[in-house]
Formats: sequence, C-alpha cells, structure tokens
Amino acid sequence: MKEGKSRKRKRGRGQQKPQESLQPKHSTKHKKNTQQHKNHAPQSSASSKPPKSSSSSNSSSFLDKMRARLAGGHFRMINEKLYTSTGKEALEYFKEDPELFNMYHTGYQEQMTHWPELPVNIIIKWLKDRSSSLIVADFGCGDARLAKNVKNKVFSIDLVSKDPSVIACDMSNTPLDSSSVDVAVFCLSLMGTNYANFLQEAYRVLKPSGWLLIAEVKSRFDPNNGGADPNKFSKAVCEMGFTSELKDFSNKMFVLLYFKKKEKQSSKGKEIEWPELKPCIYKRR
Ligand code: SAH
Repeated sequence: MKEGKSRKRKRGRGQQKPQESLQPKHSTKHKKNTQQHKNHAPQSSASSKPPKSSSSSNSSSFLDKMRARLAGGHFRMINEKLYTSTGKEALEYFKEDPELFNMYHTGYQEQMTHWPELPVNIIIKWLKDRSSSLIVADFGCGDARLAKNVKNKVFSIDLVSKDPSVIACDMSNTPLDSSSVDVAVFCLSLMGTNYANFLQEAYRVLKPSGWLLIAEVKSRFDPNNGGADPNKFSKAVCEMGFTSELKDFSNKMFVLLYFKKKEKQSSKGKEIEWPELKPCIYKRR
C-alpha cells in the first residue's frame, strides 16, 4: 500500500542514509529539503491534477508524517535525557512514566534499521564462537536481543523490564553476585553521565579473567569531533583492573573494545581519570 512513496516517505520519517543517522550534534552538517511533503501525490502522467483517490492518501501520508515527526521528537528528547542524567536519575525518569521507555525503543529500533550492521549481532557471533557455558550479563539490554539469540545464560539488565526475564534496575547497582559472570556486555549503553559506575559494577560481577565487551557509537570516540580519546578511555578501564585485548575500529558506525579482567586488582584506591563521553544526540531530519 505504500509503494511509489517509500523512498520519500522514509526520509520524511526523519531518517537519512545510515552514515549520518547517528552523529553528535556538533559534528554533522544539517541539510534539509523541507519541500518534499508537497509532492507526495503518486505521479500521474503529465496532469498536475491528482487522481481522485489520492486526496485521502495524501492526508493519511501527511498524518503519518506528522506522527513520525512527533515520535521522532519524543525519541530524541528521551535519548538526550538518558545521555545527560545519571543512571539513578534515568531510573526515576522511567519509573514516573514507563511509557517513555516504549517511545524510546520505538525510535531506537527505527534508527537501527539504518545501520548496515548492528553491534549486538557482532557480540552474538562472538559468543556463539565460544562455549555456551559462559555466563553473560547484558548491561542495558534494550529488547534483550542478545539473550534471545544465544544459548548462554544471560542476565539481561535495563531500566525498565518489558519481559519477565529482564532485570529492571540502574546498572550501576545490580542484584548480581560478585564474581559470578564470565562476560559483561555494554552494547551502545554507556549512556549515563556516571558511566564509570556502570563499568565498576561490571568489574564487581565479573569473574577473574572475565570479558568486558563494549560497543559504542564511533563519534563518541572521535577526538577530532569532540569525542573522547579512545586510548584515554582504554587506559582508565585498564586502571580499574582490566587488560585491553582488542580494539576494533573497522566499522563505520561503532567501535568495539574488548577487555579482560585481571586476576588481581592492581590500583585499588587510585583515582581514575575518566574521559567525558559526549552524548550521542540524534539529529532531526
Ligand atoms: N544493548 C541494546 C540496547 C541499546 S539502547 C542493543 O544493542 O540493542 C541502550 C539501553 O541502555 C537502553 O535500553 C537504556 O534504557 C539502557 N540504559 C541506559 N542507562 C541505563 C542504566 N543506568 N541502567 C540500565 N540500563 C540503562
């Protein structure tokens, strides 16, 4: 039913080509053609008069567009809130209105449809290449895609639980036992201003030699565009008691950082200098 308009409609819904869909505000140039919606009528030969049936289709496409705009606006507002709050504040925010979590994830899923590759799928593959007996904690699991796609025991953690298997809490303070997990995953979820507390919690629940896997939006680690220096970030994680095993910058959209927990914590009590991680603000299209 949407044929013939899909291209324009898609762009009209606020999504551009993937390379540009997820960039911090300060780093993207904003070009916009706002005239598109005027031309939504299906193309009908040389006549400028639209065919009879197109007026209702025009108005529904206009309404669709307005709804998408509104949803996009809500999504960006919630997204910004999550990047500029502590985990505790974010938990309170969603507790007051859990519907905001649904709005956020509708927008998030929409954004993800424009990514050529999802980091969570790479992590799923990484896990599938290893023993399924490894116990996993997915910090900021979203729709728990990770747990649904591997045989491992996965503790899925997020601010709101849409599924009985998801533990609802602020991930700086989980109910997981210390040294109980083999792999801690943060897939696009280091959102809070106190992200170091999230990583400290992962350190606590990980067994010695356990893995810490971090996937983050690339622009957040692009020092040329106001992002953090990945080496500084990595150094801070290592000072907490990890060794850096692999840094993968090959993907256009995200970086993947793999760490292993040391057998012994080396620098307890030492003040760690964490670089600021810029919010990833989604542009209005
Ligand atoms: N990891 C999933 C979802 C990423 S979206 C994926 O790759 O698809 C980021 C998720 O992190 C959101 O669901 C958000 O609610 C969650 N999140 C952000 N801060 C959090 C916190 N302090 N505690 C728990 N979850 C958090």
